Amino acid sequence: MALLSIVLPAYNEEQNIVNTAKTLSRLMEDHGIEYELVFVSDGSRDGTYDEILKAAEGNPRVKGAEFSRNFGKEAGIFAGLELAAGDAVIVMDCDLQHPPEVIPRMWELWQGGAEVVEGIKVRRGKESLPHKLSAGLFYKIMSMLVKMDMNSSSDYKLLDRKVVDVLLALPERNTFFRALTFWAGFRTESVQYEVQERQFGESKWSFWSLMKYAIANATSFSTLPLQLVTVMGVVSILFSVVLAVQTLVKFMTGTAVEGFTTVILLILIIGGFLMLSLGIIGHYIARIYEEVKGRPKYIISRVTDNVLGSVTGTWKRERDRQGRSERNGDRYDKF
Ligand code: UDP
Ligand code: MG
Repeated sequence: MALLSIVLPAYNEEQNIVNTAKTLSRLMEDHGIEYELVFVSDGSRDGTYDEILKAAEGNPRVKGAEFSRNFGKEAGIFAGLELAAGDAVIVMDCDLQHPPEVIPRMWELWQGGAEVVEGIKVRRGKESLPHKLSAGLFYKIMSMLVKMDMNSSSDYKLLDRKVVDVLLALPERNTFFRALTFWAGFRTESVQYEVQERQFGESKWSFWSLMKYAIANATSFSTLPLQLVTVMGVVSILFSVVLAVQTLVKFMTGTAVEGFTTVILLILIIGGFLMLSLGIIGHYIARIYEEVKGRPKYIISRVTDNVLGSVTGTWKRERDRQGRSERNGDRYDKF
């Protein structure tokens, strides 16, 4: 029977873990779906990992891992994908803002042959105004740069084992999960859902963390900002041609001295463009530097007993693969 893994990245979510685990396991049992829950505590500072252990004690289908520090949600998702043994994997938030009720529908679509099932937001849940604004700006910038509708797409999706393995094989460190599944292609279906209100705790995103996320993702998915530098260069060259002509005309007609304003303006404009351009280029160089260093996306410090592999350092993928192919027989070997 096919196995469904549900990956749940969690950062300071001690109030949510046990409840989420219960809700999901009840739902899966009601629908007769073979499942496992993979919680990844993203270096939480509260009792999140203890709660995961507690949930795992009560239910052997609960797996968990703890990061050595906070590596961010992207890292949490990828660690979860790596730990998941399922034939299909669903990624969702562990605060139940992604309504679990759509899981059976995703599962059906997968059984019908879909390889990616995208969760599409039809309405954002209630959020504070600043959060709404910053998220709004974030999605505007992202949609423009990544060339897809970021406002309704989300991290809530189901992936077939094939797609999971493709994503895990990507060498890059700076990943953007949400856009990567579009990039990967495959037979895609979608389900709509309404974002629910968060029951416990609060959103982990501040304005600045969203901005940082936006810039990081935009630059990992687009080189448009670099081309912007060229555009600015062209604009300032055109501008200086006009001013050069004007200055020459003034020089020839003998009224050259009062051009001081122009000089100041020119210095300001060109200086501004130059620094902005250097900043953008610097940002890309920083990204290249990070990629070249080749550090792991995350470090796992602890795992629950039912997880195969090493406890410290990065994940030992080989051992997990062995476990997986034993379970899935030849279906896995064909890939
Ligand atoms: N999260 C994480 N690491 C982080 C920040 C968030 O693993 O550094 C998790 C968090 O525990 C939750 C999910 O990502 O399960 C979504 O976060 P949150 O609910 O704070 O975001 P929002 O729903 O407000 O977009
Ligand atoms: Mg949330």
